[in-house]
Amino acid sequence: MTRTLFLLCLAAALFSAACESAPVRRHTHERLHSTLYLQRSAEYPALCRQVYRAAAEKLDAALKDPQWSALEGQTGTPAALPPAVVIDLDETVFDNSPYYAQVVRKDADFDLKQWNRWVVRAEAQLLPGAAEFIAAAQKAGVAVYFITNRDARLEGFTRLNLERRGIALDPKVDTLLMLGETPDWKHDKSSRRSFVALTHRILLLIGDDLNDFAAIGGLDEQQRKAVVARTAAYWGDRWFILPNPGYGNWTDDIVKNILDDQAQLDRKYDALRPAPDVSSEEMTELMKVPVPLFPIQLYIEAFSLPAKPQPPATPPPEEQTPPEENKTPAGAEPSPEPAPPAE
Ligand SMILES: [Mg+2]
Repeated sequence: MTRTLFLLCLAAALFSAACESAPVRRHTHERLHSTLYLQRSAEYPALCRQVYRAAAEKLDAALKDPQWSALEGQTGTPAALPPAVVIDLDETVFDNSPYYAQVVRKDADFDLKQWNRWVVRAEAQLLPGAAEFIAAAQKAGVAVYFITNRDARLEGFTRLNLERRGIALDPKVDTLLMLGETPDWKHDKSSRRSFVALTHRILLLIGDDLNDFAAIGGLDEQQRKAVVARTAAYWGDRWFILPNPGYGNWTDDIVKNILDDQAQLDRKYDALRPAPDVSSEEMTELMKVPVPLFPIQLYIEAFSLPAKPQPPATPPPEEQTPPEENKTPAGAEPSPEPAPPAE
């Protein structure tokens, strides 16, 4: 019996040790966190609604201002043209996170063949706020153009997906401008924005990638950030951008000219800018640095807050009344509130 007990204890100890030393899988799929953010956070739909609501408010202002144009350097007489808004589709109107969840689960990378299958299914949901914004624009007489880098051969399925989600498209005018639909409609969307500007005054641009707003072909990170700084007046005024933590020109730039999957991943790790480690010795020195403290008394004086009340005087333990005896008997007058403690 003693031997059996000993063996059981030993097994339990070994099992416990094995559990403690089991390696934690930290090298997860590179798209795991971004896809979870899109699908499971409440913050992402909040951001989408925030962007579309702000855009709708600016649309009203833009309609009232005949000189308003969201296109940098729009020439001619835009005031005489009918108004339009230009909106990207993927991760701006369409939520493609189910496709990216599939990529993560399969431990795969973006694959054009699988992507096309997802698009042909035409089942993408709309991001929160998109349908309301598009309907409001159309109701206000603003033409809605979609400029997307989906392949032109996928136009019919993309149209079907929009219609399935209640987005009304103009039956007489092609407002869905796809990649490669004409020879000069390339990855850079500038030529398509210019095409819309021939016939319309573009009031707003909405997208999730810098390419939805400006010509950025061949620009590196610093140059793209310089574009954003140069166009600071447009953001939140005529240009509205949704977050896309999963992909875009920003990731393409990191892995450009690299085809090998592992090499791409290595490049992404190399692209991180980590804080330096703090050694124990450095920590000791850092702890010696006097840090400014803000005394609570200054808060009280600055904001005219009441002084912290003193706790009521507690009677000695032997004089405390048991809770049961503190109840007011039925029919008896309640005892008066205890006097506040002296200042
Ligand atoms: Mg997009």
